[in-house]
Amino acid sequence: MLEEIHRYFHQAADVLDLTPKVRDILLTPARVIKVAFVEEDDAGKLMHFTGFRVQHNNVRGPFKGGLRYHPTMDEDHASALANLMTWKTAIVDVPYGGAKGGIDCDPSQLSRFEVERITRRFVERMKEVIGPDIDIPAPDVNTNADVMAWIMDEYSRHCGFSPAVVTGKPLHLFGSEGREEATGRGVVYALEEALRDRGGELAGTTVAMQGFGNVGSNAARLIAERGGKIVAVADHMGGVSKAAGLAIPALLAWVSEHRTVVGFPGGDAIDGSEIITWPADVLIPAALEDAIDENNASDVRARIVVEAANAPTTPKAAGILHDNDVLVVPDILANAGGVTVSYFEWVQNVQRFQWEFDQINAKLEKIMRRAYANVRDVSNQKGCNLRTAAFVLAIQRVGRAALSRRSIRETIDLG
Ligand code: NAD
Repeated sequence: MLEEIHRYFHQAADVLDLTPKVRDILLTPARVIKVAFVEEDDAGKLMHFTGFRVQHNNVRGPFKGGLRYHPTMDEDHASALANLMTWKTAIVDVPYGGAKGGIDCDPSQLSRFEVERITRRFVERMKEVIGPDIDIPAPDVNTNADVMAWIMDEYSRHCGFSPAVVTGKPLHLFGSEGREEATGRGVVYALEEALRDRGGELAGTTVAMQGFGNVGSNAARLIAERGGKIVAVADHMGGVSKAAGLAIPALLAWVSEHRTVVGFPGGDAIDGSEIITWPADVLIPAALEDAIDENNASDVRARIVVEAANAPTTPKAAGILHDNDVLVVPDILANAGGVTVSYFEWVQNVQRFQWEFDQINAKLEKIMRRAYANVRDVSNQKGCNLRTAAFVLAIQRVGRAALSRRSIRETIDLG
């Protein structure tokens, strides 16, 4: 996976004509941490886990990025996702670097108490390398506000009261208004900008959504509230469709009870694998990486793809979509709303002050639309697609900060 992200980086580095030395500096991670631990399950049997945290770059501020609990979590995933975070925080211009991590586990096979114990053990192992001014984790796949609360509690037990060590906490425990839906909300702003680029508007637009977790369900709800039609949704168990548009509030209620969209009575069952090529104006992958690959890219029928997930499109698939004139809003722009409101949460924690919901959403909207406009400008100037433009913009911002902090024996023009 890291290799794929590097490929995207090099496409932008080629546009900027960066030397191998500068590329090397920008790609080399600051720290790669791997921990192992054992925990008893609820029956007393020993379970083994490996935890990861890759801290890629912190020239623009403390490391920042999510924690993922998934059987595929490994050093390659953490490295690739940490790398993406460095560019993402630069694109929305929040004062952070990039990091990512997680534990190789399957939370669907664990009790709530087991997940809590594993989380606490992970924090105990990581406490020297995270902190409010060092590295601030956040939710990602299979981690939520409860997990963030345990992280805050365990870190504070060892290091003193520190709500700003983690973001995405519950609202009643130093969390922020708007954080839970922030990534989905940001996706909707990105979609509206993309529709404007293509001369369309959200009302009446049909959308196929892969993934109905935090990001997918919030994006779907907000799209439907604004007059868009969610015509198909898939998760890891299967999918459901309705040409006239699924009733999202009813689907949300179904999923909160059944943990899957499968069986929802308000639509027809579909095979989950059909979602990528479903007939809709817009496709939003909001699940895991590599959902759009060389095998299905040429069958994508949507004219706009908004990458709510991280790295959902392989480089080969990205080339096919580009050739087919599909507008792709890249992950590092489209899903940056989450880290933006994480920044607001961290600022509130540091200042011991609380912002209101409307204030947060207004600031988020301004930042997301400005980021999209900045990327669109670079795309027009350099004649490249939005992904390459997003990387160009991010590399310029991170590169300038890096060169101000440390000079190197080379003349560098960042464009
Ligand atoms: P989540 O755990 O809340 O939800 C994940 C969803 O993906 C679930 O509906 C699950 O069923 C579905 N899924 C998993 N495997 C699938 C498969 N093979 N096919 C179809 N669906 C599948 O996770 P989330 O927080 O919503 O994250 C989703 C994506 O968004 C990830 O790529 C994550 O890195 C990215 N992201 C999340 C945030 C955030 O704030 N949570 C921020 C930025 C990016």
